[in-house]
Amino acid sequence: MKSAAQRRELLKEVWEQARVCVDCPLHETRTTVVFGAGNADAELMFVGEAPGANEDRMGLPFVGQAGKLLDTLLAEIGMQRADVFVANVLKCRPPGNRDPLPREIEACEGYLRRQVELIEPSVICTLGNFSTKLLRGEPTGISRLHGTEEVRTIGPRSVRLYPLYHPAAALYTPATLQMLREDFHRIPQLLALGTPSQPATETEVLELEEAIAYAEAVDPPTAVGPGDAGSPEQLGLF
Ligand code: URA
Repeated sequence: MKSAAQRRELLKEVWEQARVCVDCPLHETRTTVVFGAGNADAELMFVGEAPGANEDRMGLPFVGQAGKLLDTLLAEIGMQRADVFVANVLKCRPPGNRDPLPREIEACEGYLRRQVELIEPSVICTLGNFSTKLLRGEPTGISRLHGTEEVRTIGPRSVRLYPLYHPAAALYTPATLQMLREDFHRIPQLLALGTPSQPATETEVLELEEAIAYAEAVDPPTAVGPGDAGSPEQLGLF
């Protein structure tokens, strides 16, 4: 189990790599790399799509109108930015706020996965289609999935994945805002469930295999059928 300070240090190392990243052409047009921000020890993480113009200028995620809505919704459930970690699928702004391209998503995916692995949140809210599709590894869209939580294994960890409408989609559509707000208000319930049970680590699997091998060496399984090795009088007996 990592301490909050260890998580912060490790996350800073990933940020140092991301801030000089040239793995896709977006590095040519970006002003800053918007790595993500918030509490490295958070139980709740949000994953949006990509930085917009404000984020690109300030180097922070969700600082425009969509971000203000995110803050309002957080306040409604008694939380603030300092309690959560907010990141995006892409760390650099696509020109003109166009949709992320598959090769940009692929180039950037490792940073998001490292963030999830280091922060170890129990709940991840994906905001909109891009993060939902990426973290679920399936093409089902947000209008079918919003408000439906599921336990998913992301890297070495299981998390409660909770897709939500993107706040930008709710800004000018009251019906979407209503659904986002209703879904958002269930977040405290999901947090109260705690971390889902975790898959065995590689070390645990190795230890288990060693224990089985040892048990079999000191007490080999007995012969159970015709032709199995055993004492002559056992041959042919079940
Ligand atoms: N929209 C996003 O998806 N991310 C941001 O950081 C800002 C707007």
